[in-house]
Amino acid sequence: TDVAPNALPEPPERTLVLVKPDGVRRGLSGEVLRRIEAKGYSLVAVELKQATTELLAAHYAEHEGKPFYAPLVEFMLSGPTLAVVAEGQGVIPGFRSLAGATDPTEAAPGTIRGDLGRDWGLKVQQNLVHGSDSPESAAREIGLWFPHL
Ligand code: UDP
Repeated sequence: TDVAPNALPEPPERTLVLVKPDGVRRGLSGEVLRRIEAKGYSLVAVELKQATTELLAAHYAEHEGKPFYAPLVEFMLSGPTLAVVAEGQGVIPGFRSLAGATDPTEAAPGTIRGDLGRDWGLKVQQNLVHGSDSPESAAREIGLWFPHL
C-alpha cells in the first residue's frame, strides 16, 4: 500500500521542565511530576542537580542584562533543582498551561503556580517551575541540562 511521505511519524515532542529550588525545598517535586504524569505525558529523564553559574548563564542567556537576572541566578544557585524531560504530543505548550502565568499571584487556580505559588517578596522570581517555551528552546535547554540525551 502507498504511504504518503508526509505520513511519516513525527519524532516525539519533548520539553525541559525544572522544579526550581523553591519547589524542591518545599517538597513539591513529586507534586509537579504527578501533574505531568496525570496529564498523560511521559517522563524521559529526571535528575536532581545543583546548577552552576555557567549552566544558568546559558539557560537564561536571553535575560542577561535585565534587572532581575543577577538575583534570579542567585536564587537558582540556592539549592538543588529537579530537571525533567517530559514527552508527548503538545507537551511544550501543554506544560506551560499546567505551570500557569509567570507571576504566581496572577496564575490561575488549577495551575502549578496558581495552586502552589505566591509572592514571597520578589513578586515573580520564586515561581516553582520552568518549562521550555518553543521547540528551539526545548532542544537547547535539554542539551544543557541533559548533555547525554
Ligand atoms: N523572573 C523574575 N523577575 C521578572 C521576570 C521573570 O525573577 O520580572 C524570573 C522568573 O523566575 C521567571 C524567569 O525569570 O520564571 C524567566 O522569565 P520568563 O519571562 O521567561 O518567564 P517564564 O517563561 O518562566 O514564565
